Amino acid sequence: MDKIDWLNIWLESKIHEAIMNKEEFFLSRPDKWYEEPTWVCENLHISNHYLKSEERGDLCLECRKKVRLCPPDTTEKSIAKEISDLKRENKLKRIIK
Ligand SMILES: [Zn+2]
Repeated sequence: MDKIDWLNIWLESKIHEAIMNKEEFFLSRPDKWYEEPTWVCENLHISNHYLKSEERGDLCLECRKKVRLCPPDTTEKSIAKEISDLKRENKLKRIIK
């Protein structure tokens, strides 16, 4: 799987968590995520800013990959750990099967 797939899986898990916690949503993202908008790219750069481009959409300031809205408490350390946990769980599931 590519980096972007892992980012998507991680984002889905965060959205799922918010649904389970019965959080309010706006445009398919939890309200909370808009309070202090935080952005992540597939290289897991976290920023409160992004580059707006006419042709390619919203881009990471560091690597120019597309950014996605993420939970405001995300840090580069926390997301790296959570994605490596997801990868490990995935490997375990494959072994169990
Ligand atoms: Zn980046």
